[in-house]
Amino acid sequence: MTAAALQAKASTRATLASATRAEIAHALTEIGVPERELKMRASQLWHWVYHRGAREFSAMRNIARPVLEKLAEHYTLARPEIAAEQVSADGTRKWLLRMPPAHPFDKGAEIECVYIPESDRGTLCVSSQVGCTLNCSFCHTGTMPLVRNLTAAEIVGQVMVARDRLGDFPGGVAPTDGLTPKGEGVRAVSNIVFMGMGEPLYNFDAVRDAIAILTDGDGLSLSKRRVTVSTSGVVPEMARLGAECGTMLAVSLHATNNPLRDKLVPLNRKYPIEALIKACREYPGASDARRITFEYVMLKGVNDTPAEARALVRLLKGLPAKINLIPFNPWPGAAYECSDWETIERFSDIVFSAGYASPVRTPRGRDILAACGQLKSETEKLRARARLMLEESPAMGQE
Ligand code: SAH
Ligand code: SF4
Repeated sequence: MTAAALQAKASTRATLASATRAEIAHALTEIGVPERELKMRASQLWHWVYHRGAREFSAMRNIARPVLEKLAEHYTLARPEIAAEQVSADGTRKWLLRMPPAHPFDKGAEIECVYIPESDRGTLCVSSQVGCTLNCSFCHTGTMPLVRNLTAAEIVGQVMVARDRLGDFPGGVAPTDGLTPKGEGVRAVSNIVFMGMGEPLYNFDAVRDAIAILTDGDGLSLSKRRVTVSTSGVVPEMARLGAECGTMLAVSLHATNNPLRDKLVPLNRKYPIEALIKACREYPGASDARRITFEYVMLKGVNDTPAEARALVRLLKGLPAKINLIPFNPWPGAAYECSDWETIERFSDIVFSAGYASPVRTPRGRDILAACGQLKSETEKLRARARLMLEESPAMGQE
């Protein structure tokens, strides 16, 4: 077989590096592993892929060679490709990841993924969609019209890439050009937030399947309390998130009255503040130990008065809540400015006096456009035609 033919064959092999348990069992059945061995082989493979971070089937020493050969013939352990990496002066890393093409004419979607090291934790901010259909007026991702949902494998692939790159699998080597958190037993990637590109609750099934892989105790082993899903307020899916995933919830509130929230977060016209707060009150598992985070972006002259701080406190009364004040991160062409520091402090003091922890989220990675709401990949440039088609059809998830 020629090199080109080999390459073409290789590119059609599916990766098992971010597969679900069911997909792994299916792959083993496909290559002829007998039913009686299936359970054992599947858990061996799972362990190698997710606990050890194996890059080659041949490394899986306790699996019989003929099985490994068959696996390598039909599958790979490929991760999304790092198309570009930027490291901020504060240690934040942003990766532009190219997903393997889904079919011969697909160039492969590009998404961004951000790693934020702190002294006691390392947070990976993952994307759930390519772009976002929701057009929040202060968000860069919202200006990116081309959207498709990421698959569960593409979501998990982001974590695999980060663990590889940060030397977070056994035997891995941490990069020397950036920071990683310190401390006994602290993993480089200890927390996951679904705060990258996209609205996770408009891609519920893939997000749920990805979370099951991320939190599986025999594999990547992230605690559900260290996984946070942020939503702009897709009310009908919130109860399912609590019941089926059991992760922490963050809600992008940003305004305390409907006319303003309608402008900032247009989804509010469909699910207004009252419905959103009700869904939060009913969120399964919320308690003082598992508070809901309310994100509030500080926009100069728009939502930052002391009266609005007091309205916020009234709105959240009785809810187990944390309030996260996010200084607005500018991006080219944005119509907003970030509130002054004194204004943010005054706002934060009012919220704090009412008994809420109200950390002001220090902007991280602003110099590389990696901060909240600054993510936007170039995928749209590659596919002007697809974008036009999308613009002409009703937006996904906004039926
Ligand atoms: N779509 C989801 C998750 C991704 S956005 C959501 O909206 O919740 C992650 C957070 O960044 C959200 O709270 C979002 O409102 C906020 N954000 C968006 N653009 C921002 C900007 N330019 N500056 C600061 N925060 C921003
Ligand atoms: Fe989408 Fe969230 Fe940005 Fe709104 S803030 S456009 S929901 S990514």
